[in-house]
Amino acid sequence: MADRPERHDRGTVAPGRVKEVTSVSNPIVKDIRGLALKKNRDETGLFLAEGLKLVLDALDAGWRIRTLVISKAADTDGLVGRVAARTVAAGADVLEANNKVLEAITRRDNPQNVVGVFEKRFASLGRLDFGADGVVVALDRVRDPGNLGTILRTADAVGAKGVVLVGETVDPFSMETVRATMGSIFSVPVAKVSEDAFLDWRKGFKGLVAGTHMKASEDYRAPAYAGRPVCLLMGNEQAGLTDRLADSCDTLLRIPQAGRADSLNLAVATALMLFEARRKALTL
Ligand code: SAM
Repeated sequence: MADRPERHDRGTVAPGRVKEVTSVSNPIVKDIRGLALKKNRDETGLFLAEGLKLVLDALDAGWRIRTLVISKAADTDGLVGRVAARTVAAGADVLEANNKVLEAITRRDNPQNVVGVFEKRFASLGRLDFGADGVVVALDRVRDPGNLGTILRTADAVGAKGVVLVGETVDPFSMETVRATMGSIFSVPVAKVSEDAFLDWRKGFKGLVAGTHMKASEDYRAPAYAGRPVCLLMGNEQAGLTDRLADSCDTLLRIPQAGRADSLNLAVATALMLFEARRKALTL
């Protein structure tokens, strides 16, 4: 995989190179394939974004690319060629790969013809900009990559200021989560904190901390969300919120249900909460 882009004295970046790779056992390809594992993403600080749309979203949002893999069969006169040119200009290498290599990297039979290797980026909880009336969603020990991806996409759609991952959590940069975000991973700040760090931050937070709980007695439509910063706190898929997190909330809310389902899926409940908290700010 390309090293960090080399910078010249005057701040310009040495252009990357275009190389052809044909074998799945090529060492660069092996490193990229390794990014399917969290351990390797943690060690390298890198992750994969598949598909032209996602790679363009990442570049447009200023994320740093380290390697671009494109299909040898891709039409380089169009957008793919322009993305490759942007990659080389950013000092990263472009690998032209055959289908077998792309299948191995993406672990799919019908791989996308563009895959980007990007540097991971986390926001700091203390620096999230809530503004006067921004909404942030905090997730207690979220386990399911699809849920997290869907929540990031929904948070983006409502204009939320960030997503906070509290405690032991699924990796927001896993291939499955990145895919499910449909590119929103690149526009929603994501912070990751321990439960203790969240509770410390909460002590100094002047807005409303609204938790969701299956035993709550207040309707989720009751609070006045508008006009103040809001942190929505959502529970783990199996266990709900820990007692410490629930106790730290200004209010605990429930979404009324009819029928026999015990609860809603976490991503669905989060979507309802986000749209309710942002109701006054969202107009057609
Ligand atoms: N067995 C868990 C419990 O009793 O808390 C159910 C967890 S539920 C699948 C995951 C999370 O989604 C909950 O912790 C809560 O944040 C949210 N949730 C799901 N349905 C909800 C509802 N009807 N009202 C409020 N929150 C809900």
